[in-house]
Amino acid sequence: MKDYHTHTPGGHGGYLCSVTQQDWSRVADAQGMTPCFGVHPWHAAEVDPAELAFALDEWLTRYPQADVGECGLDATPKHAATLDVQRILLQVQLGAAFRHERMAHLHGAGAWSELLGILRERNRSGTLPRVLLHAWNGSHEMAREFLALGAIFSVGLRELSHPKAMERYARIPEGKIFPETDDHPENWARTVALLGLIRGGLSPTGM
Ligand SMILES: [Zn+2]
Repeated sequence: MKDYHTHTPGGHGGYLCSVTQQDWSRVADAQGMTPCFGVHPWHAAEVDPAELAFALDEWLTRYPQADVGECGLDATPKHAATLDVQRILLQVQLGAAFRHERMAHLHGAGAWSELLGILRERNRSGTLPRVLLHAWNGSHEMAREFLALGAIFSVGLRELSHPKAMERYARIPEGKIFPETDDHPENWARTVALLGLIRGGLSPTGM
């Protein structure tokens, strides 16, 4: 089992996400990990969209094994002020992922419904890349909407420890939900165990 969302290279392998453009060379050089190039919505205000588009094209061409991320939207009070520029950068990064046929690794705190709308629109126009929703904490009903668009999910200890974890995660189909450590590599063993326990509660006809 690999780590589906981390910022720290580790022995389990997995997807190593950058958070700023300055971070790209660090993730590109990590052994045994899939590097992901992107700009996190928390850093949206620091970036010129056109320059990001150009740089992403160049780096994705140079690293054919790389994905796109971490990118997305954050509408929580601390970050909502930059939502306009977050939206532009998200479209730049989804566009690059689509053109280069890579998966986009998405952050959607407080913004899952808007994200769903954006992905649906891209699906309608035939420009939707593969997507992974990291730290997924929406309802099962909304998960089904994202699943219909081909999305997969990753969850960490924080999401799995939530009182609603069972109803959110137990019925997501096999092969669509995976463990992540994000900024907490020390949580790996507990995350895998807890996800297994929640998934183990699934009856064979549970979908
Ligand atoms: Zn992250």
